[in-house]
Amino acid sequence: MAWDFDTDPEYQKKLDWVAEFVRNEVEPLDLLYPNPYDRDNPEIRALMKPLQAKVKEQELWACHLGPELGGPGYGQLKLALLNEVLGTSLWAPLVFGCQAPDSGNAEILAHFGTPEQKAKYLQPLLDGEIGSCYVMTEPTGGSDPTSFKTLAVRDGDDWVINGEKWFNSAAEHAAFHIVMVVTDPEAEPHKRLSMFIVPAGTPGLEIVKNFAVPGFSEHEGHLRFTDVRVPSDHLLGAEGLGFVVAQTRLGGGRVHHAMRTVALVRKAFDMMCERAVSRPMRKGVLGGFQLTQEKIADSWIEMEQFRLLVLRTAWRIDKEQDYRKVRHDIAAIKVAMPKVMHDIAQRAMHLHGAIGVSTDLPFTDMMNYAQVMAIADGPTEVHKITLAKEVLKTYAPADPVYPSGYRPLLREKARELVAQRLEHAVGNL
Ligand SMILES: Cc1cc2nc3c(=O)[nH]c(=O)nc-3n(C[C@H](O)[C@H](O)[C@H](O)COP(=O)(O)OP(=O)(O)OC[C@H]3O[C@@H](n4cnc5c(N)ncnc54)[C@H](O)[C@@H]3O)c2cc1C
Repeated sequence: MAWDFDTDPEYQKKLDWVAEFVRNEVEPLDLLYPNPYDRDNPEIRALMKPLQAKVKEQELWACHLGPELGGPGYGQLKLALLNEVLGTSLWAPLVFGCQAPDSGNAEILAHFGTPEQKAKYLQPLLDGEIGSCYVMTEPTGGSDPTSFKTLAVRDGDDWVINGEKWFNSAAEHAAFHIVMVVTDPEAEPHKRLSMFIVPAGTPGLEIVKNFAVPGFSEHEGHLRFTDVRVPSDHLLGAEGLGFVVAQTRLGGGRVHHAMRTVALVRKAFDMMCERAVSRPMRKGVLGGFQLTQEKIADSWIEMEQFRLLVLRTAWRIDKEQDYRKVRHDIAAIKVAMPKVMHDIAQRAMHLHGAIGVSTDLPFTDMMNYAQVMAIADGPTEVHKITLAKEVLKTYAPADPVYPSGYRPLLREKARELVAQRLEHAVGNL
């Protein structure tokens, strides 16, 4: 019997250290430097390095990665518990070496990279020396990768890329981009795409614009590729394998977002409760009203349900070691995440009255964050479809007229069983 909801005491000690460290030394920096991805800013570099060194001393650097990649190999469940603390701060994931999009990019470089690609891009990425960008979405095709148009054409030993991509996180600070493009427009949809590593500054690669999204520290780049030439050894994974590489990456990314969302939901909930017990009303405090109590109760239940689903998914990833086997678990938390974040942030905001809707409190950012979580890494609708399809695969077709719970048939079966048993019992008398 291996159901255990306790965190092992040694790791809990580490989590306690993390909570205090983040609260006192990391979170305050969010307000002065809201874009910690800006490695070109010498003040950010100077502040970041000593914090990262402390994390390494605690053996918590990139804790989801195995020792061969410079981490302690704690896996996704321990990362989930860690992210429950880190998710409240913009800086914290970078201080602990597990920030998006680099964590997902490192994962696919580790899985699909050649030894040369790993030496050149993975190692400095894992060391926190450089940043990366994941480039998939196009202005005319996001949720549906079969509609992508950015094309790479072979030219001798090179590939030449043309097209447009957008909403690529932290593009402006990336040393290299992992770009998903069409390499064979005639192939069947899931074999049309391949992944390339394109170093920043490659001639023909231009950042047209950087979008700002409330609630997010980094900007989202709009990239244009005009005859961008890369050698064939910049292909990441085999030709036509882009979809498989993307699924490996996006599975991990979605879970990590959900883990960090648990932290933000908890923060909104804690603030709501603090307000409920503090705000004086005509009679007592706000939390004395039953309608407020209903909001607290609903929020607690939704938060705990979501948290357990996220932890169980992380546990299943560690157990199965294959994202394809946990597709429906990941889709389920992806669907649950925006709703739980939105509903609890909205109640917390409402209970704070006027100051709740101001930018001095984090609720407006949290509400927008919830909207983003319903879109980024694929919209809710697509994940509901995935979940339903995966679940339905586990059911066999039955009689289309008399479903399995049809009582007259069950009664008939029960009569047969009873007749047999009574006959047997009488025979034994
Ligand atoms: C903050 C942020 C960061 C991001 N970071 C990255 C990044 O680093 N790299 C990257 O490549 N992309 C990134 N994205 C882009 C993101 O992955 C896409 O926005 C997402 O895949 C949706 O694509 P889209 O925006 O084109 O929306 P669309 O595909 O146009 O979808 C719009 C709406 O259409 C509906 N819809 C779509 N498909 C279906 C369906 N099958 N059934 C029913 N309804 C449907 C849904 O309501 C959906 O919300 C980021 C986006 C944001 C907001």
